[in-house]
Amino acid sequence: MKASIFYGIENIKTEEKEKPKCGDKEILVKVSYCAICGTDVRIFFSGHKKVIPPAIIGHEITGEISEIGKDLKNIDLKIGDKVVLVTSIGCGKCKLCQKGFYNLCPDTKAIGYFYPGGYAEYVVIPEPAVQQKAWVKLPSNVSLLEGSLIEPLSCVINGQNYLNIEKGDTVVIYGGGPIGLMHAVIAQAKEAENVIIIDPNFQRLESFAKNFEGLILLDPQKENVKEKIKSITSGFGADVVITAAPAKEAQMEAFEIVAPKGRISLFGGLPKDNSIISLDSNKIHYNELSVFGSFASNRISFKQAAQLISQRKIVPEKFITEVIPLENLEKGIRTVRKGEALKVVTKI
Ligand SMILES: [Zn+2]
Ligand SMILES: [Zn+2]
Repeated sequence: MKASIFYGIENIKTEEKEKPKCGDKEILVKVSYCAICGTDVRIFFSGHKKVIPPAIIGHEITGEISEIGKDLKNIDLKIGDKVVLVTSIGCGKCKLCQKGFYNLCPDTKAIGYFYPGGYAEYVVIPEPAVQQKAWVKLPSNVSLLEGSLIEPLSCVINGQNYLNIEKGDTVVIYGGGPIGLMHAVIAQAKEAENVIIIDPNFQRLESFAKNFEGLILLDPQKENVKEKIKSITSGFGADVVITAAPAKEAQMEAFEIVAPKGRISLFGGLPKDNSIISLDSNKIHYNELSVFGSFASNRISFKQAAQLISQRKIVPEKFITEVIPLENLEKGIRTVRKGEALKVVTKI
């Protein structure tokens, strides 16, 4: 089969490789599309502790069921079913896995990191993933291409499930990449009154946001963000702040612009050697703020994401700006890095 192999930093090659065998308790998927995630870009340029080269990365995967292991009798799947793969695979035994929070299992192993991923013609759903039903069937009106947005969207939904966004809320999002824009569109679907995106790379933000209506875009280099948000909210501040950027400044500013009773999502992580911020905890105390984290996603949010696309609350064409052949993966990764495309999807 054709596969793109990650051999190390800035070294990825598309070549012929033996097709993986489907074990008796495994499922083989013929990959149709695999979208490029910000994490794939980071792996390509900086590596990742769970990705040991040579490796096949890629975790935003849709495809068709090609083989089902012979020991899997009562499985709700048949050859040809169109699915999206759930990324995080837990140990299956711990307290968090028992509740379905496989993304938070201390021993979580993910497809496209620990297990081979989707930049290949075939991917195996390994046994622990089969036990966790680590797939969701695509709704009939969602194509395999559109389904490649379900994974990133599921992460956004997982983050927003904590935030209780309501009609009339002001929602501020730091970071105007695909994830920030997904947050914005979902907040609008919940009837937030003002949805504001802040990004210092303002040109990129403007070009990405041109297909989306009703957003307020702020350039922090030119505008006083705090004053601006005060004036939009009659002095109260934002009801919800989401930091969808790996920036300390954004996290710290979130506490300056949030209203009493406000909710903050630290959605984007910080670089691991630079993740300490300073914080006046009295702001949380006196204003009854809620601060949430969010990491990856689980099957429940995959299902919610599939439904949002099926209902066209998220319109995939607005996000998918480029579809490329697998051979051009490296070019695609570099395009995403330069901020020249919103969502690039490889067609396998
Ligand atoms: Zn992703
Ligand atoms: Zn576990």
